[in-house]
Amino acid sequence: MSNSVYITGKSRYERTRKTKEFNNNRLCTIENCKTTLSRYNPADKCFLHAPAKQGRVRGWKQPD
Ligand SMILES: [Zn+2]
Repeated sequence: MSNSVYITGKSRYERTRKTKEFNNNRLCTIENCKTTLSRYNPADKCFLHAPAKQGRVRGWKQPD
């Protein structure tokens, strides 16, 4: 009886996601706001000026 069991798969962990990075030294787009944005912040406004994000609510859909 030959060994016919082969395990197929990835031999190493492959990164499927890349950390999004944005330009450094971006400023909040609100006038007179000198807040530098984090380059990991996808928004163009600082935390104070960006619209509050609502976490995903289970079973709740955005009305059209
Ligand atoms: Zn701001």
